Amino acid sequence: MIFFGSRSRQIKLDEGQFNCPHCQAKRSYKHMRSTVYFTLYFIPLFPIRKLGEYILCESCNQALDMRVLDYEPPSEAELLISQVKAELESGMPIHMMEKKLLNSGHNPETTSRFLEQASRGLLKTCVDCGFSYISTVTACANCGGTLKLD
Ligand SMILES: [Zn+2]
Ligand SMILES: [Zn+2]
Repeated sequence: MIFFGSRSRQIKLDEGQFNCPHCQAKRSYKHMRSTVYFTLYFIPLFPIRKLGEYILCESCNQALDMRVLDYEPPSEAELLISQVKAELESGMPIHMMEKKLLNSGHNPETTSRFLEQASRGLLKTCVDCGFSYISTVTACANCGGTLKLD
């Protein structure tokens, strides 16, 4: 009786360092290729088809798409801007956010740049108390007054 069949094999093509989105850190990876071999008596003889290539993180063992090698983690400034944006969207007045940024050690230029980027320059002002908000906020958190686009 002749035993033939197929078996898939993982071949390492390359290795290196990348930013693993799963680990949120720089990790070692293996660039792998999965190939199905024709086997005779369980010995792989020749490749039948290639299943695909992937990146394997050596720390979390996740098989990831090849495009993961182009992944750039957000910079500290980008993370901070999205944090500022989230707080402004939840209804924090602009001047309070500004105070908070200045108090945490950011200089006035960086602070106004962060506020500009987070609000995209679109602000709303309360007709009653004059507090300013990001344009997605609908009511004044200070007095409940109506907000108008600047
Ligand atoms: Zn990982
Ligand atoms: Zn108000």
